[in-house]
Amino acid sequence: MTASSDNITYTLCDTDSSIRAAVDRLSNATHLAVDLEGASLGQTGGTLCIISLKNAWELDSPNYLIDVLAFASEHERRLRPIYDLLESPNITKVLFGGCMDYCALYHDCHVTLSNVVDIQLADIKSRPLRGEGLDLQLRRLGEVFVKAAAKGGSSLSRKKKDQDGSWNGNEERQMFMQVHRLLGLRDCLREHSVGGVSVPKVDHSSWLTRPLPSTYLTYAASDLINISGLFQQFVAKGYITPILEEESQRYISIWNDRKPYPGEKFRNHAFLPLDIINYRHGGTSSTSRCKCNGCQRDLPEGCFPMRETWVHTVTSESSSGTRTGQCFVCRAVCLQRQKKERQHQSRRNRSFSSSYSYHYDYDYDYDEYGHDNWGACEALDFEIEDDFGDNPWADYFLTRPGIWGMPLPYY
Ligand SMILES: [Zn+2]
Repeated sequence: MTASSDNITYTLCDTDSSIRAAVDRLSNATHLAVDLEGASLGQTGGTLCIISLKNAWELDSPNYLIDVLAFASEHERRLRPIYDLLESPNITKVLFGGCMDYCALYHDCHVTLSNVVDIQLADIKSRPLRGEGLDLQLRRLGEVFVKAAAKGGSSLSRKKKDQDGSWNGNEERQMFMQVHRLLGLRDCLREHSVGGVSVPKVDHSSWLTRPLPSTYLTYAASDLINISGLFQQFVAKGYITPILEEESQRYISIWNDRKPYPGEKFRNHAFLPLDIINYRHGGTSSTSRCKCNGCQRDLPEGCFPMRETWVHTVTSESSSGTRTGQCFVCRAVCLQRQKKERQHQSRRNRSFSSSYSYHYDYDYDYDEYGHDNWGACEALDFEIEDDFGDNPWADYFLTRPGIWGMPLPYY
């Protein structure tokens, strides 16, 4: 069925013949824009509902929306021609933030998405090329990171250094240099001055509804058009480099050990995981690796605080066995969450103070990230809606520039 809504056309494929027609057309493409939709897509308990595909070089080409639910338990056989395209070494798949897409295909459909370029990653790699330095990189992360870097560490870490000499403020100042904030598709289009098409708002819990309302189908098709537009711009700017494919494959497959749980903070956040673009950062191929006790990834030593601290945490025994440290990104997740919790707390206390003249000292700087950050983070076990693809942090910061000073520049 081919239909149109708000001038966005799409072809819904829910029969064997419509799949054959789509594959006939798509198999001639060298680059396919790929985007998946679903309820809690890629997470434990989630369901893949739609696979969206289009020729990434032709903005006006058909937007094929494959209704996976229509094929029910037979999808592995009846959608095999589609899965062959996704696994094909001859067609490059263009994704935006494809980790959850990969998870859904890999864990639920036994399909290994390969030969990919992830343009969310290309955006991050383009930042230094656009003149962005550490200052702006930290500002993207938020005020609390800027302050920590400026001071060379939090008051707690300085105290720790005094006590046992195992923490170095310089190291702490450096620690967020490896941390990059991911942008959502909408903000990425804006930052790169790609017009794109407007995307309707949808409730993502309703992707299981059948028949799927046209708003949802328009949403899926719009994403395909926007991914393709951004890809073409990135090619023109020279941001799609040969090594990007290898980095993209590493990026999208980071959760191939298991799917993230809904709300799992170390696997659902808006920071680029480590060891993706600076592969084996901090060492050579023989560098020792350590399992992060946040994200559970095996990472090189250079992804953890300085060696003394690293050894200190690695050798700390807990009841469940040997504890390891947290990587810089997991520490950033903790710091970000602490900040958010303090903001909530501050709001609660401000309303309290208006009645009781109570002064609340709004200070991010104590108890930020000391040696036992794990415990500090676990104590803040509140749920927020994080979505890797849509990136609420981006909305949060870009729409509230007053929180941490000046708004980000757009290029
Ligand atoms: Zn980690």
